[in-house]
Amino acid sequence: MIASRLHNLSIEIKLFLAQGVVTISALSVLLTIVLGYGYMSFRSDLTKDLDTQANIIDHNSTAAILFDDKKAANEILSSLSLMGSINRAYLFNDEHMMLARYEKDKALHQGEPIRLSALRKRSSTFKTHILIKDIRLDNQIIGTLFIEANLEKLNTRLSLLFLAGLVAAFSGLIISFLISIKINKFLTQPILTLTNLVAKVSSTHDYSVRSDLLTKDEIGRLAVGINAMLSSIELRDEQLENELAKQKLSEKALDRLAYYDTVTQLPNRHYFNQRLSNKIAEADKLNKTCCLMFIDLDDFKVINDTYGHRVGDQLLADVGSRIKENLQAEDEVFRIGGDEFAILLFDNKQFSHARELASTLIRHCAEKFIVNNNDLFIGVSIGVSGSTHHNEEKLDLLRSADSAMYRAKSEGKNNFKFFSKEIDDEAHFRNYLETALRGALSRNEFEVYYQPIFHLKSEQMVGFEALLRWHDPVYGDISPTVFIPSAERTGVIISIGEWVLRQACLQQKRIRDQFSIDLMMNVNLSGRQLRESDVVHKILDIVSETNIDPTSLNIELTESVLMDNSQSTINKFNDLRAAGVSISIDDFGTGYSSLSYLKRFPINTIKIDRSFVLDLTNNSEGQAITLSIIALANTLKLTVVAEGVETEEQKKILKLNNCEKAQGFLFSKPLAADELHEFLEKSSFSTMRAQR
Ligand code: C2E
Ligand code: MG
Ligand code: MG
Repeated sequence: MIASRLHNLSIEIKLFLAQGVVTISALSVLLTIVLGYGYMSFRSDLTKDLDTQANIIDHNSTAAILFDDKKAANEILSSLSLMGSINRAYLFNDEHMMLARYEKDKALHQGEPIRLSALRKRSSTFKTHILIKDIRLDNQIIGTLFIEANLEKLNTRLSLLFLAGLVAAFSGLIISFLISIKINKFLTQPILTLTNLVAKVSSTHDYSVRSDLLTKDEIGRLAVGINAMLSSIELRDEQLENELAKQKLSEKALDRLAYYDTVTQLPNRHYFNQRLSNKIAEADKLNKTCCLMFIDLDDFKVINDTYGHRVGDQLLADVGSRIKENLQAEDEVFRIGGDEFAILLFDNKQFSHARELASTLIRHCAEKFIVNNNDLFIGVSIGVSGSTHHNEEKLDLLRSADSAMYRAKSEGKNNFKFFSKEIDDEAHFRNYLETALRGALSRNEFEVYYQPIFHLKSEQMVGFEALLRWHDPVYGDISPTVFIPSAERTGVIISIGEWVLRQACLQQKRIRDQFSIDLMMNVNLSGRQLRESDVVHKILDIVSETNIDPTSLNIELTESVLMDNSQSTINKFNDLRAAGVSISIDDFGTGYSSLSYLKRFPINTIKIDRSFVLDLTNNSEGQAITLSIIALANTLKLTVVAEGVETEEQKKILKLNNCEKAQGFLFSKPLAADELHEFLEKSSFSTMRAQR
């Protein structure tokens, strides 16, 4: 209990107590020694005095004893009255008879029988000192002296001494107390400073503070130790902080990588997916509509293929910034795919903000972009969908915007469309197509039709174009313009295209066998097919497998294919040409007509798109374009075929302007295989071979 209380006391108090105990103990010992010494010295003085007195009496009383002179003996003893400390004294002769007697206080011993034998038994006490001396003469005991002295004087002196000692000790104690206060303060102050420092550090967690104690003692060493400890904690903290900062940085970088697109620095699709559901919920709370704008760049691939990926990437980044510039604070833009951006925004039910933003974006994005000193122009097609409270799932919103964008694209690009019931139906139809197309080949739902191509001057049939037909059990006959894009998107165009080529080759062979003529057979090849690395191999395999003359085969490709003017595409063209196969550019004038690719690619024929042929008689501008295409083809020594010739007038103008060949309803519609054979039977082939 006391020990634990002591433990709880401060060091200063403990020290003070310890010093108190030591001082008191030391003073007590000192006082005891002084008192002891005083007592001994006082008593020895008394003993000496008594001995001297006894010797005097011994010397003086010899005669009185011998002569039994009591009077003289009493006179001798009475001299003892001079010594105040003697209580009584008795002188006995050798027969133990009392000869003389001295008593300081006579009343005290009155009537008391005084016998030497009894007196001899008495011994000194703290109060009295007894002296018994035999008086001798020639070594013969002639009497005995008994003296009893009181020690009052001695005790008084001793008490005084004790008092003086006590006062001295007390004064010493006070002085030592005062000194202790100073010393203890001096000793404990550094400890207190250190304790305060440690307490401060633990409460503030500020490890930069240091103790400025410079002493070389244990506390000084402790201070140095604490300083060193604080330094290492500070260092460790710093390292930890650095580590943490680094970790945070790398987490941030990872986060950026996970949520941001490195090309445009915009949030990516992953982030978009997360934001979309939140935005729908937010819009719901605010009683607003969450609008999603799906933006797709028009013909971005062309730019990528023409100028390279670096320019393409920079353009994407610039488009991203341009989109951002037009947004309001609450709107968010994401890059969700190659050339696809998405914007999330709040709107009212009339979609006025979305409408305004869409037209602004189309206008601004149509302005020139300068990338690597190239002036680039790009269109954007935008689809907009909105959440109508509670009932829109996030996937639906995206799908709807995508469908609306798809519609915007199919309606001539560089415009925007809002999702509607009609677009929804169209999207469903597209989905249907994509699914149904996969099995159409194995279900024998395809048929190849053949449209004759005529030499204009001789008006003889010189070839035919294989055109695919799909007899769908649900929708009936579906136009290739409708299903080919779906087939391209899903990739089934590869197997379908192969099948068409094989059918067309077999047809060519049949005509050759039956009519002994080699008609030029034109087969459309999709850009998707051309991208296949083994496309040339496959075409030539089918040619040899069906045993046709490769020079009777003409592959029709649209202009967009030529935009990918990579070496591998050029190589494929060269390989086809080397094998004897010729190449036509289909729908010439509708895509990115460029004189440069006409020179770069080994092309044989240009097929003028039917829209130009249609304009031949409609307006002078259309006529000018068509005629200049013909002139261009003639200059480049390319064969030119006019598509979609429907009237005699068109035919006349074309013929007049040296258009070599033509194809169109005026001559014949695309025909089923049997019909083609019938058509051929009716025709004359006298000059065909030469004019092919
Ligand atoms: P295209 O290669 O330009 O084919 C010519 C299209 O014009 C054919 O349409 C043909 O029926 C149509 N046409 C021909 N003469 C006239 C005319 O005087 N007036 C009008 N209005 N149209 C005429 P079709 O068969 O609907 O084919 C459309 C397009 O589908 C083709 O255009 C071609 O790009 C593509 N296509 C057709 N079959 C195949 C195929 O087997 N493979 C690939 N990749 N594409 C194909
Ligand atoms: Mg064609
Ligand atoms: Mg065409």
